Amino acid sequence: MYDYDLLVVGSANADLVIGVERRPAAGETVLGSDLAVHPGGKGANQAVAAARLGASTALLARVGDDGHGRLLLDSLRSAGVDTVGVLVGGAPTGVALITVDPSGDNSIVVSPGANGRLTPEDVRAAGSLFHASRVVSAQLEIPLETVVAVASSLAPDSRFVLNPSPPRPLPAVLLAACDPLIVNEHEAKVILGDSAIGDDPEDWARILLAKGPRSVVVTLGAEGALVASKDGVSRVASVKVDAVDTTGAGDAFTAALAYRLGTGASLEEAAAYAARVGAAAVTKEGAQVSFPTAEEVDAL
Ligand code: ADP
Repeated sequence: MYDYDLLVVGSANADLVIGVERRPAAGETVLGSDLAVHPGGKGANQAVAAARLGASTALLARVGDDGHGRLLLDSLRSAGVDTVGVLVGGAPTGVALITVDPSGDNSIVVSPGANGRLTPEDVRAAGSLFHASRVVSAQLEIPLETVVAVASSLAPDSRFVLNPSPPRPLPAVLLAACDPLIVNEHEAKVILGDSAIGDDPEDWARILLAKGPRSVVVTLGAEGALVASKDGVSRVASVKVDAVDTTGAGDAFTAALAYRLGTGASLEEAAAYAARVGAAAVTKEGAQVSFPTAEEVDAL
């Protein structure tokens, strides 16, 4: 018996957002809007997205012993995430300093802080969480060696889902553990590197699959997604919605897909559900606050 549908291993950040008329040049100061502070980071986002859908969810992460860390713990708990695996201390909570200009373009500086201190030893010490989890998901906002340790800590029957964001070339041992590897177009191109020939995402899906994952999902924004496995490549239709803000769509998609796989859905079924969750998330401003409940997904 598993206690958790999903264990997320990843980052937790405070997003500090200021609206500006224009970006400052070197040596210059500009005045901006009031500061808005939001809970974020891909790990925390995925955990909140899954819990809001009703998944029994735990997060393994590290935050600082500070106000931002407490903000994150509060938002995780109020979404229903089990925070027993959220370690505290060692460095300040990770922060994303975000300026947004009137056209909506972002400039972002990330200080990984405590996320960079989540170690392979932390993963090994959390063995009981791994043994209690049907599916484990990760991203790349924590050290790569920690993600490699995650892939080698899975319970015998559990499944590993990786969204390699921010993207970088991946070691073969990590690729081989992914079932699926979930990438958007930008991530696909970085991971494929020189082998990204042409503009056809179906080709990227096939070439990615040949690099070792048991399955691959390529997300295509408003165009939906592609699913690739040994059975071939199939397309997952998107749901037509009025998109307001696409922040966090990929995190909501990955969380939903990982959760549904654990309930016994096929990869195609799980991706179709995830596409509905991603679509619901883009109809609202923000990341975590835009993630739908299961009822909201059904109503879409
Ligand atoms: P990321 O946020 O990682 O760039 P995508 O933009 O590909 O990821 O979005 C993830 C998924 O969310 C898509 O595969 C799709 O199912 C859904 N989605 C994203 N944008 C839209 C949109 N404008 N309309 C409908 N669905 C969307």
